[in-house]
Amino acid sequence: MNKGKLFVVSIGPDGIDQMSVNAVEILKKCDIICGYKRYIEQLPPILFNKNTRLFSYNMGEESKRVKDAIEYTKKGNTVALVSGGDASLYGLASLVYETIDDTDFVEVVPGITAILAASARLGSPVSEDVILMSLSDLLIPWSTIERRIQLYALIDVVFGIYNPKSKKRNWQLKYLVDLFYRERGDLLCGAVKNAMRKNEEIRIFTLTHIDYEFIDMSTILIIGSSKTYLKNNKMVTPRGYTI
Ligand code: SAH
Repeated sequence: MNKGKLFVVSIGPDGIDQMSVNAVEILKKCDIICGYKRYIEQLPPILFNKNTRLFSYNMGEESKRVKDAIEYTKKGNTVALVSGGDASLYGLASLVYETIDDTDFVEVVPGITAILAASARLGSPVSEDVILMSLSDLLIPWSTIERRIQLYALIDVVFGIYNPKSKKRNWQLKYLVDLFYRERGDLLCGAVKNAMRKNEEIRIFTLTHIDYEFIDMSTILIIGSSKTYLKNNKMVTPRGYTI
């Protein structure tokens, strides 16, 4: 490789105002920006310089996206591979490190992940220990996910669920909710669809009243701990301070 650089840039939930200043500055100086087509479309032109070339990819082309970004970097370009939310968490940063030979050429730029965007919208349900999981079985077998759910159900901490439900994968969330209810009772939950996007929608319910129709692939679900309570329609998990 010669002097190229590959930035794996987190672009947050949506739009430039939710990116870090660092992410904005890096994108402005890149020759090439690669990413899933929806992410590329949402980048405003202010992020491009006169030489910027954009490469859009379809869903499912993750390995190709990463390989191409590495090839462009090897040719000496300054390349950004953009990833929604945070690029590490259920993103492409690890695939980049797995694929590239010389890791010195890579820099990951962190960003606002969905759980933190949703927590901010709901009040402050995430305030201390939190478990995060994805219900997607595209990369991890259901048997592994199921075993994890069984263990997580026993732990009284706040819980964040990425990829909770899709058109094809529609019963796993109910399996998790039923198990949590059996082990821990009726906990407070918040679901945020399209957090920090124009079409954001927020619902607060308890495990026994979850609106499964509302929850889709653009939604993140936060299940509170036994300490989480509702204050004027905001979810709060106390950290333990004396007020
Ligand atoms: N790297 C991303 C997560 C990608 S996995 C991040 O850090 O946020 C995709 C899942 O993330 C979606 O199915 C959804 O559960 C969640 N998600 C991502 N962005 C979201 C948003 N703006 N609002 C609600 N959920 C979101």
